[in-house]
Amino acid sequence: MANHTRRVIIVGAGIAGLAAALRLGEAGWSPLLIERAPERRGGGYALNLSGLGYDAAERMGLLPALTERAVDAFELAYVTAAGRPRFTVPSRTVQAVLGERNATLLRGDIEAVLYDAVRARVCDPVPIRFGVTVDAVAQDADGVRVTLGDGTTEDADLLIGADGLHSRVRELVFGPEREFRRDLNHLIAAFTVDELPAGVRERAFTSVAAVGRTMSFAHLGPGRMAAFFTHGSPDPDAELAMGARAALTRAYGDLGWIVPDLLAGLDSGSPVYFDSVSQMVVDQWIRGRVVLLGDAAWCVTLFAGYGASLALGGADRLGLALEHQPADIPAALRAWDAELRPMAEKHQRRGRRNTGLHAPTGRLELFLREVPLRLAALPPVTRILQHRLHRA
Ligand SMILES: Cc1cc2nc3c(=O)[nH]c(=O)nc-3n(C[C@H](O)[C@H](O)[C@H](O)COP(=O)(O)OP(=O)(O)OC[C@H]3O[C@@H](n4cnc5c(N)ncnc54)[C@H](O)[C@@H]3O)c2cc1C
Repeated sequence: MANHTRRVIIVGAGIAGLAAALRLGEAGWSPLLIERAPERRGGGYALNLSGLGYDAAERMGLLPALTERAVDAFELAYVTAAGRPRFTVPSRTVQAVLGERNATLLRGDIEAVLYDAVRARVCDPVPIRFGVTVDAVAQDADGVRVTLGDGTTEDADLLIGADGLHSRVRELVFGPEREFRRDLNHLIAAFTVDELPAGVRERAFTSVAAVGRTMSFAHLGPGRMAAFFTHGSPDPDAELAMGARAALTRAYGDLGWIVPDLLAGLDSGSPVYFDSVSQMVVDQWIRGRVVLLGDAAWCVTLFAGYGASLALGGADRLGLALEHQPADIPAALRAWDAELRPMAEKHQRRGRRNTGLHAPTGRLELFLREVPLRLAALPPVTRILQHRLHRA
């Protein structure tokens, strides 16, 4: 079926998809990216790259460009619902807890660094078809054929579904989303903001936490600001159906500080990430020559703080596995699945363990959650927090 050698179609040009294009491209594959969005995404939300992802970034030669865009140090500030300061975790303590090998950036910055690397090192212009998705996938022992929404077909040796939590490739090849989705009964909304709201600290993650919800504002530097809303919900699907503006107003409308202005700003039509917090539990990420990568495969969720790291690290390990067994793609994919699975499951466990942190169910839980933060600058507590963050 496939008449090209070592051609890979990658659905989704997020961190996982772009990292796969770079890694496989450098290993001699010819990538084609299929991206549903009409153009490249910018901004996104703030995230921390560490562990496997940081190691992969180093091996892939991305650290200088990532470091250039990363925030060097930031503090955690907590305010009341009216915006009055409560307590602060100083930046040196935050750095000590995170460790040295990590970088905090906007998602769009990581994607931009990957995109530039693909263009410089694999193919210029970057082979992306925007504004289109996959309608059908067929495969045999020799290759895989993808039919796109515009009726065209593309043949390849390998298809990577890197199309996120609601993956179309997963649905077409593995089965309906509901078979794999584990809801953590929370909603997350995140969006970038152009102007620093009055009274918000620079170089800080400032949060207002209340029973059932947390709202945070991240200032990572000029032009790099994002707001996050996380709340518990018995019925995430019903809230998603309401839309971000209505659901967030219902959940946060009683809070003061910058919250009313941020909610009002949602009417401007700028993009908002609004979704349920859900993990993907897929027994095997491979079906023949089709493989899932990133959130499409495992989605550890923001509660694990490791999805971008796994997306980047998973792409790097996929490249390594295919380099080790170039003649037997299915065997390379199985080896990759077996190697990565324990890491993904470990971070899924962490995601589930951290669930209550963002939406404490009562005042006691809220108080207890804050105790270690209030004491974080004390060296023994710093060490405990370091241990918690880096343990399985
Ligand atoms: C608020 C928040 C904070 C987070 N913080 C952290 C953190 O601190 N550290 C960390 O490591 N991770 C964090 N994460 C998780 C991390 O952002 C994700 O795990 C990671 O970005 C997943 O990347 P991905 O490429 O797999 O998926 P996505 O980013 O979802 O990208 C999927 C791509 O596929 C495209 N697409 C979707 N459907 C289709 C289709 N049908 N056809 C074609 N294209 C399609 C999309 O437009 C998108 O470009 C956070 C997540 C959130 C929401």
